[in-house]
Order: sequence, then C-alpha cells, then structure tokens
Amino acid sequence: MNVPLVDLQAQYRSIAPEVEVAMSTVLRQGHFILGEELHRFESEFANYCDTTTAIGVDCGTSALKLALLAFDIGPGDEVITSAHTFIATVFAISYTGAHPVLVDIDPHTYTMDVSQLERSITAQTKAIIPVHIYGHPADMDPILEIATRHGLVVIEDACQAHGARYKGQRVGSLGHAAAFSFYPAKNLGAYGDGGIVVTDDQNVAKRLRVLRDYGQRSKYHHVQIGFNHRLDTLQAAVLRIKLRHLDAWNAARRQLASLYDGLLHSLPLVTPTQAAYAESVYHLYVIQSDDRDAICSFLNDHGVATGMHYPIPIHLQPAYESLGYQSGAFPVAERAAQRVLSLPIYAELPKATVRRIATLIEECASPPARSHQ
Ligand SMILES: *Cc1c(COP(=O)(O)O)cnc(C)c1O
Repeated sequence: MNVPLVDLQAQYRSIAPEVEVAMSTVLRQGHFILGEELHRFESEFANYCDTTTAIGVDCGTSALKLALLAFDIGPGDEVITSAHTFIATVFAISYTGAHPVLVDIDPHTYTMDVSQLERSITAQTKAIIPVHIYGHPADMDPILEIATRHGLVVIEDACQAHGARYKGQRVGSLGHAAAFSFYPAKNLGAYGDGGIVVTDDQNVAKRLRVLRDYGQRSKYHHVQIGFNHRLDTLQAAVLRIKLRHLDAWNAARRQLASLYDGLLHSLPLVTPTQAAYAESVYHLYVIQSDDRDAICSFLNDHGVATGMHYPIPIHLQPAYESLGYQSGAFPVAERAAQRVLSLPIYAELPKATVRRIATLIEECASPPARSHQ
C-alpha cells in the first residue's frame, strides 16, 4: 500500500479540464492582481458561508491578522484562543502586538473548553478566537453569549472548517468575522497559498480591503500603513472551480469518517466525537491512543502515512516561552498532544483502503495471540 495523508494529485485528476480552462482564461486576460475572477470568487464564497462580504487575502494567517487589525486590536490588548491549534492562530495575535491568552480544550471535540473561557477574561481582553479544529465547530453559542456580555469581538478561525455547520448554520457566519485558509491541503485549497475573511460588517470589510492592498483606498493614496496581502486572481479562478465541488468532497469525507468510526470503535483507542450541535467536515480524522507512536510506525511500515496535529501544545512551544505558562497548565491539550494521530482522509480515498487501514490498526492494537503449543 502507498496511502498519503491527503492526495492532491487524485483531486486534480478529477477536475483538471475545468481548472485548465479557468487558468488559461486568466492568463489570456492578464489581470493577475485584484482581477475580475477574485471579485467573483469573493461574492461566491461569501454566499457559500451565508455572509454578505468576503475579502480574499494571501493566506489564512493574514486573514486572522488583518481581521484583528480591522477591529483595532493591537498592543495592550489581550486575545483569547485555544492551547490546541496550529501555531498560526497565535502568531496572528502576536503580529498585531496583542498578547495571546490560552484556554484548555474540551477532551471530546478538541475545541475551546467554554467552561474555562470566562475566567480568562480581564479588563484588557478585546477578542476571542475560537478554532474549528479538524473541521469540527467550536461551541459558538456560549462563546458568543460570553463575548456579548463582556463586549468582546469574536473572530472564528475556520481555516480547517470550510462548509462545517453549527446548529445548521455555516461556520464563518457565526462570529463578527471569520478567517479561512486555502493552503493546498485544506478542504478548499488553492494551488499555492491563499486565504479569505468573511464578515457581515461593511465597515470592517472596507478596512480589510484597504489593509490588504498597501493601505490604499484609491491608487497611490495611502491612508494608513497597509500590507501586500492580496489573493491572486489565478488562485481565485482555481478556487471558483473547486468551490463548486466542496459540498460533495465534504460529504465524501463525512462518509469515510463514519466508516472509520464503525471499524475502529471497538478497539482500545478514541475515535472522533461529533457534538450534537455539529456537522464536522473532517479536515482531519484524528484518533487518540496510548500506543500512538506504535500505531504510527506500524502504519508507516505498511505504506500508510499519518500525521500528528499537533505534537506540542502552544504553551510548550519554545516560541511562546515568554507567555510564562508551565507544563501542566493545560492538561487536556497536553494529553491530546501526546496521543493524537491523524489517519488518511480525502474525498478520493477508496473505502476499501479505509478498511485495510482499520485492519492494520486492529492488528497493531491487538496483535494476534501466539500459539504456545
Ligand atoms: C492552516 C491554518 C491556519 C493558517 O493558514 P495559512 O493559510 O497556512 O496561513 C490558521 N489556523 C489554522 C487552525 C489552520 O489550520
């Protein structure tokens, strides 16, 4: 077997003719920056998320950073997020000059433990970034209720959750703004880096358009120090094609996840939980086991790639030593980091391969008893 964690070539084979037409159209038109395809994609993606407006940017990290800046978050402010996320969530806070404050996670969904949120709020707190990790939405209602009571901004990190739903509503439409990544391996991925912010707040949208484009409101009229954080027209053209397939791809991921669930549930390991409020899009299919490293190398030896998302929680990363958190500060996140293992999942993954992967895990978890006669 030779099974990657995600197979971008298989996906490309399924859409190649459409993508090649879209790309060559942009090449012939020659508008590579802020071109028509970008504006079309922005309105289609906003529509997909049930929001009014979307602003394309160069990656998910920029989407988070610019969203924070558009809400005037900066030095002296505190922003609360999860201790169990990709480092970019927290870097984005740091880039603005604000101070990241971390909260432990719920042991079942790996999203922010809402019961620990309120005690982390201080007079300096300005925003909360819930992370819809692995494609599973954070528990947004209590987060929004607490945020409203304290006058805080909520920016969803939806970088792993394109299309996921919370109580029937699309992620991205729940907070004041949301950030998505189009890194190639995400559920909706470009052929390079990309990202987008969605919001219903027209004032914030206007500020985001200025911030992503050198702080200019019209050409060479710079009203503030901005950035070059635009989404390429070529990537937008590719994303327009892929967006049309996203629901089908997510449905396929959900089917594969439930197949894994059924095959693995009786083994001595933890399969993913989907909260009653959630429709996850399984960006990753993550199991937990005390024998994580053994399962990982056994699968590797049999040609099955796996991942660890993520092996070190944020507060134990050397980059964030300065936050002053000790080992033991976030026990659930720390335990998860030592036990999580991501199995291959992507729309084109054959069901038979999932069955073979499950059989391998079963062999590894409960090796066949040796006969001593
Ligand atoms: C991918 C990701 C990001 C960053 O997106 P980039 O496009 O890689 O900059 C941020 N947060 C989470 C949770 C992610 O998975």
